[in-house]
Amino acid sequence: MERWEIAIIGAGAAGLMAAQAAAKAQRAQGRPVSVVVLEGNPKPGKKLLATGNGRCNLTNLDAGPAHYHGDVALAAPLLEACPPSRVLEEFQAMGLLCRADSEGRVYPRNLQAAAVLQILRQACQELGVALACNWGVASLAREAGGFRLESAQGERLWCARCVLACGGKASPKHSWEGGGYALAQALGHPVAIVDINDLGANILGFSEKEPSMDQIAKILGDNPLGQSSESTPMGIIRKA
Ligand SMILES: Cc1cc2nc3c(=O)[nH]c(=O)nc-3n(C[C@H](O)[C@H](O)[C@H](O)COP(=O)(O)OP(=O)(O)OC[C@H]3O[C@@H](n4cnc5c(N)ncnc54)[C@H](O)[C@@H]3O)c2cc1C
Repeated sequence: MERWEIAIIGAGAAGLMAAQAAAKAQRAQGRPVSVVVLEGNPKPGKKLLATGNGRCNLTNLDAGPAHYHGDVALAAPLLEACPPSRVLEEFQAMGLLCRADSEGRVYPRNLQAAAVLQILRQACQELGVALACNWGVASLAREAGGFRLESAQGERLWCARCVLACGGKASPKHSWEGGGYALAQALGHPVAIVDINDLGANILGFSEKEPSMDQIAKILGDNPLGQSSESTPMGIIRKA
C-alpha cells in the first residue's frame, strides 16, 4: 500500500492551494515533500474552468465582510485573514498576470480560467506534489496513527494527514460523484481552525454549533500559538 505524509482529497482550487502550502511547509522544515492530491475526475479543476464564464473571477478588490451576504460571523474572520491583497500576492508569486475591471473584479490578464488552473498545477508540480486522477475516494478511516483511503476501484493508500478539499454541492456536474460530505461524516469529530496569539483570538472555522465561536476563542485564548508581532501559524484542533 502506498504511504504518504499528506493526502489531499480533491484537485479543485482549494486542494491545489492546500497542496502547495503543505509542500512548502515540508520543504521549510527540511523534509522531503510527500504530498499527493487525489482527484475523482479524469482531470483536475473542472469546476474552476467553468468559473466566471470561463474567465475565473479570482477576487474583487472590494471583497470583505461588508459586502458578504450570508453567515457574516463565519465568513468575516476568513475574509480578514485572506483579503484580496493576499489572494493577489499568492497568484503573483506563482507568476499569474491579472487585471481588474471597473467594478474591481479581478481576472487573469488573458481572461482564461485555464491560465489559473495551469499556474496552480505548475506550482504544485514544481514543488514535487503528486497528482492522481480517476482516484475518487470512496472511504476514509483511521488506521495506524493516520488514515487509510480506498478508491472506488479498490486501490488503497495510507497517509499520516489528510485534507478534505472536495468542494460543495453547487454544480454537481463539475464534481466527482462521491463528494466529501460522507467522508467527513464518517470521521465524525469536531474540528476548529484557529488563529490565536496573545493579542487576540480568531476562530476561522468550527464544525459544531456548540460552544459558540466566541466561547471557543475565550477558552483557547490562554494558549496562544504565537506572541505579539510574531507571525502566528494557523492551528487545527481536533479531538484526540
Ligand atoms: C458556474 C460557476 C461559476 C463560478 N464562478 C466563480 C468565479 O468567477 N469566481 C469565484 O471565486 N468562484 C466562482 N464559483 C465558485 C467556485 O467555483 C467554487 O467556490 C470553487 O470551485 C470551490 O473550489 P473547491 O476547490 O473548494 O471545490 P471544487 O472546485 O468543487 O473542487 C473539489 C474537487 O474535489 C473532487 N472530489 C470531490 N469528492 C471527491 C472524492 N471523494 N475523491 C476525490 N475527489 C473528489 C471534485 O471532483 C473536484 O474536482 C463559480 C461556481 C460555479 C458553479
